[in-house]
Amino acid sequence: MPRPLYLAASIVLAFVASLRPAAPERPTLAPRTADGRLLLDRGLTRVATGSASPADAAAHADDFDAAPAPRVDIRPSVGARLASGALVRDVTHAATWLARSPLAAAITGSRTEPAPATDPRELLAIEGGATYLPENLARNGSLVTRWHDREQHPLRLWFAPTPGASPEADAARTAIILDAFARWREAGVPIRVIRVADSAASEVQIRWVDSFATPISGKTRWVHDAAGWIRRGDITLALEYVGGMPLGDAALGAIGMHEIGHLFGLDHTSHDTSIMAPRVRVRDLSEVDRASARLLYRLPAGFLR
Ligand SMILES: [Zn+2]
Repeated sequence: MPRPLYLAASIVLAFVASLRPAAPERPTLAPRTADGRLLLDRGLTRVATGSASPADAAAHADDFDAAPAPRVDIRPSVGARLASGALVRDVTHAATWLARSPLAAAITGSRTEPAPATDPRELLAIEGGATYLPENLARNGSLVTRWHDREQHPLRLWFAPTPGASPEADAARTAIILDAFARWREAGVPIRVIRVADSAASEVQIRWVDSFATPISGKTRWVHDAAGWIRRGDITLALEYVGGMPLGDAALGAIGMHEIGHLFGLDHTSHDTSIMAPRVRVRDLSEVDRASARLLYRLPAGFLR
């Protein structure tokens, strides 16, 4: 029997344009073995611990939430091997929101047409060129991770109340993030979302913090099963840059779309006018973002080899 594999990924958006000196970084909390020994193996940090339930895997990920490094685009993978053999991997990406950059010109390109191919590798070969999925898959070992189609059973979101915020401000921010989800669905991702009042009933939790201790604006973590199907996730978003400057609505929306892209299974791209670029320059999805998301949700989860 294959052992379950859980992936917890943490996606971090960083803001490096502040003229103020960065706050001191939190100490990195790396996973250790039960006797406190730190183990590294090709970018994976392994740790012996207990249960391998998804909830435990996600909770365990908090223990090695490495302090983000805002001046790099992609950090090495950090992961932990549970005693059961389950793998927990924490992947942290850093990106820059270029608050004052002009809107980049939209990428023009033809929409991908449905291909007759049913073999995922053939489908990728035919349609992948208009997307950044080949780039994503080359980076992560050809593992497709995505949610199941959720048109019939909407993804259950829970929004944590913002500490100290008025209900009106909370509602406005929630609307921005719900709109960000809607933008991906309009692009062709077959995922509807629904808000739930009980966090215990949710699959995705969204939280706000005033700011992170380091110059980042948000992060996303998710857990997938052995077959690559994403089962749960959480997104944390900052209201202010580390220097205290508030993120405007456009920045919140763009960062929300970027983080949701990660939540849905997309990785960064070298297309710098896409929302999934490590340095976010745009305020909406590009055609390449849309094509990539559509194609991702026509592929089955799992390894494409
Ligand atoms: Zn990112």
